[in-house]
Amino acid sequence: MRRKLVAGNWKMNGSSVQCRGLLTGLLAAPRRGTAEVAVMPSYPFLGLAAELLRGSAVRLGAQDCSAHPQGARTGEVSADMLSDIGCSLVIVGHSERRQLCGEDDDLVARKFVAAQAAGLTPVLCVGETLDERDSEQTIAVVTRQLDAVIALAGIAAMARSVLAYEPVWAIGTGRTATPEQAQAVHAHLRSHVAGNDVTIGGSLRILYGGSVKGGNAARLFSEPDIDGGLIGGASLLAEEFLAIIAAAA
Ligand code: PEP
Repeated sequence: MRRKLVAGNWKMNGSSVQCRGLLTGLLAAPRRGTAEVAVMPSYPFLGLAAELLRGSAVRLGAQDCSAHPQGARTGEVSADMLSDIGCSLVIVGHSERRQLCGEDDDLVARKFVAAQAAGLTPVLCVGETLDERDSEQTIAVVTRQLDAVIALAGIAAMARSVLAYEPVWAIGTGRTATPEQAQAVHAHLRSHVAGNDVTIGGSLRILYGGSVKGGNAARLFSEPDIDGGLIGGASLLAEEFLAIIAAAA
């Protein structure tokens, strides 16, 4: 039985005041459901978030990490630093970093390995653009993105990771993949991993991300291979995020 995970990716939003407000609200709300919950604020707020979340069951994650362990890399943050400050998760390969920062499959795979070397659980994002979906390349694209990581990290490493299917055309657009569209890709990803290792395929958590809201979460999460969500915009609204957590019961 895979425990659902709902992770809030705050992206480059918020302030220390908002961070405190959101997390105080999240911790004060009556716990609904059994899903695991995580928040992923921007780097400057991780210390504050770690302090506020201390002793709670809410996990802390970062939105990215360096592929390198240390050194002369101005502006980069290593996975060890994230672990040191209290993170247990880190997103790698988010489509905004692939598209806006030029991150390719190889760099994403090296970040995945660096995250695990620091004891973090990488949340590996894969997903196709609208052009790729329209030209029926969805399965080829997500398989290539996943295989780049398996090739470098090895299949056993997938047991210590979370996968997130995030169709690029659904991120921040208000246009959600239908539950059937998402389920089809999730089922493919799971069977692809299972083809390498049946136990890991069966236990791997695969999140859906792309305009998940309180109103559509329950239906998406009812699909057999959707194990929760990676939530962007709606994770900045306490009521919406709580509704999504409740939907993952
Ligand atoms: C995301 O950034 O991972 C995401 C899914 O964003 P949104 O929920 O806003 O579409």
